[in-house]
Amino acid sequence: MFKDDIEKLKALQDIDSEIARLKEQLNLYPPMIKKIEKNLLRKRKELQSIRDGQQERLKQKRLMEKEILFRQEEIQKKTAQQNVPKIKQDAFDALKREIDKLKGEISVLEDKIIQFIAEDEQALKSLAKAESVFKAEEEDSQLERKRIEEQIASKKRRTDELNSERAQQLTLVPNELLTYYNRYYRGHGPTVVVPIHGDSCGGCHMRILPQIIVEAKQCEKMITCEGCRRILIAPESNSPQ
Ligand SMILES: [Zn+2]
Repeated sequence: MFKDDIEKLKALQDIDSEIARLKEQLNLYPPMIKKIEKNLLRKRKELQSIRDGQQERLKQKRLMEKEILFRQEEIQKKTAQQNVPKIKQDAFDALKREIDKLKGEISVLEDKIIQFIAEDEQALKSLAKAESVFKAEEEDSQLERKRIEEQIASKKRRTDELNSERAQQLTLVPNELLTYYNRYYRGHGPTVVVPIHGDSCGGCHMRILPQIIVEAKQCEKMITCEGCRRILIAPESNSPQ
């Protein structure tokens, strides 16, 4: 019966619509993953620059400590030179000036280190916070990514199922209807078989003659809309008559 054929074609269209919908959804995922990766990369770089800053601070601090040590050794040497027996007064005074200068420099360096230590406490706190924030973000990203990958896998599985259903369905639809369907599908898009809504086409909403509605309900041959050439079928049972 023709009614069965049309129903088979409608079933094929339903399969095709679902495949198309899945394809659209699948296309959305790669940019989502890319965005997650990009975001994480940016945050990883931000964290790394905080870490680098901290390393740089430590390096500077160690350098200043070395400079202090060097000056302390100098002071020791110069003090020893002052203590040689029978040193002349002007030589002694010259050494004293050098020692005072070194002491002054040590004092400046020590002030800087104290300042550094005070800032360091804050910097270390900030670094620890940044590390833990990043760790949480990384975990969130991984979860989100996993969720998306599961969605992709499940939608691909469903697409595979639908493709085999489709192959099966193709063998059931008569050639004449299939040719019409394929031609229309390629030219105008996915909806080829539409139910009549009230007294108009479910595709283009053009009014349909009562005689055509009767024929569509009888469903003994292919009835198409005058406006859009879609194949018309009887109203769906839950749509207004
Ligand atoms: Zn129409």
